[in-house]
Amino acid sequence: MHTKSLKELSSLLQGKQISAPELAQHYLQRIQASDLNAFLHVDTELTLAQAAKAQQQIDAGLAGPLTGIPIAHKDIFVTQGWRSTAGSKMLENYISPFDATVVAKLQQAGMVHLGKTNCDEFAMGSANENSAYGPVKNPWDKLAVPGGSSGGAAAAVAARLTPAATATDTGGSIRQPASLCGVTGIKPTYGRVSRYGMIAFASSLDQGGPIAQSAEDCALLLNQMTGFDARDSTSLEVADEDYTRDLNLPLAGLRIGLPREYFATGLSSDVEQAVRAALAQFEKLGATLVDISLPKTALSIPVYYIIAPAEASSNLSRFDGVRYGHRAEQYKDLAEMYKKSRAEGFGPEVQRRILVGTYVLCHGYYDAYYLQAQKIRRIIADDFRAAFAEKCDVIMGPVSPTVAWDLGDKTDDPVANYMADIFTLSTSLAGLPGMSIPCGFGQGEKNGKRPVGLQIIGNYFSESKLLGIAHQFQQVTDWHRLSPAGI
Ligand code: GLN
Repeated sequence: MHTKSLKELSSLLQGKQISAPELAQHYLQRIQASDLNAFLHVDTELTLAQAAKAQQQIDAGLAGPLTGIPIAHKDIFVTQGWRSTAGSKMLENYISPFDATVVAKLQQAGMVHLGKTNCDEFAMGSANENSAYGPVKNPWDKLAVPGGSSGGAAAAVAARLTPAATATDTGGSIRQPASLCGVTGIKPTYGRVSRYGMIAFASSLDQGGPIAQSAEDCALLLNQMTGFDARDSTSLEVADEDYTRDLNLPLAGLRIGLPREYFATGLSSDVEQAVRAALAQFEKLGATLVDISLPKTALSIPVYYIIAPAEASSNLSRFDGVRYGHRAEQYKDLAEMYKKSRAEGFGPEVQRRILVGTYVLCHGYYDAYYLQAQKIRRIIADDFRAAFAEKCDVIMGPVSPTVAWDLGDKTDDPVANYMADIFTLSTSLAGLPGMSIPCGFGQGEKNGKRPVGLQIIGNYFSESKLLGIAHQFQQVTDWHRLSPAGI
């Protein structure tokens, strides 16, 4: 049951071969039996109530393509009735009075909410080890990290604890955990998916998207997730579209740009091998490979790690012990209440980013760091624009320079974590859509295989094209169908 695609699940539901409550129970039992720490909150009663409602829709003949299908939400989306912690102690007992737009939309589509997935605190991280609620294990090899910050979402889909999950990507957090867990994920063009009710990290970068087993599943999910939202000031007013429309487009003539900088030193040979094999597969499908350059790739790390913390330091100032979240029990005066509440509520990585962000926004440093970073951000976007205008239709390369590393390996070294984002950050800085699809496994199997993801980056609003390209690949390969041992 749990290896089925969304389409297959939907036809079982509509053919009455299984009911929505039965399907939800099946996944709830799997979640309960799992030791991955992928879920932070599960509430059987709430889930089954939603499943019963979905079943009524099905019985009344009012079902849509996703009605009755379970989904898990990253704990960065606020949810009415369920705790929303953003992986932080600061919001340990926070229950939102409203649903995030994404959550509401998927609920309107009849999807059944299975629970909230673990993530790095306020989505800051590349390994899910910054969660205040403990790390998530990679289902392929439980000694490995699942990637971050949407580690719970990716691990849950990989272990088939849910057929689909929502996630967010600020600098790679959909693509990188999808890559490290061997599942499919897409970050849409910035502004496609409403940020309303997505607990803010870096507002000019944050973007929601789906993680699922295949590109086709992601297309079905995106159909319900995107759309203009007046409550998000950066939401784009573009017409709705059907993201499944290009799934069957042939790839003959497709020009795939390979950025030299994505195949340079730092890329481990096992990842490169799997990516090159996938590229050869695309050539067989009729695509041509073109050499391109994205010369500012290396600068994406300092640029992102200035801009994202700057925005975070401002966004997180609302957590002051007065309006939201944790408040210290004892304090002398207001200043001490702020200080103690924030020192107790935020973990070390969040504190580090608030410090960096505050520093780069200071009078005297603003021009040297923040403004300079903004200028380079523009040049990074221009490099992509030039590549798409002159050389290629899409760009491909690795998502992560290595396969998943061991739990605990980089916990004491924040910069080593930041370096792992080298191939995902520039897409985010440019606001472009990007996805990750499974394309093989790395060498050096320890406790289990470690997956490799192929990144596909497109021009603005090219989600349907990306999904079509990925779908064509998934028609002739079965990396996305493989699941970890014992699943
Ligand atoms: N790894 C990056 C960071 O730590 C990206 C996180 C994200 O996309 N949410 O900020």
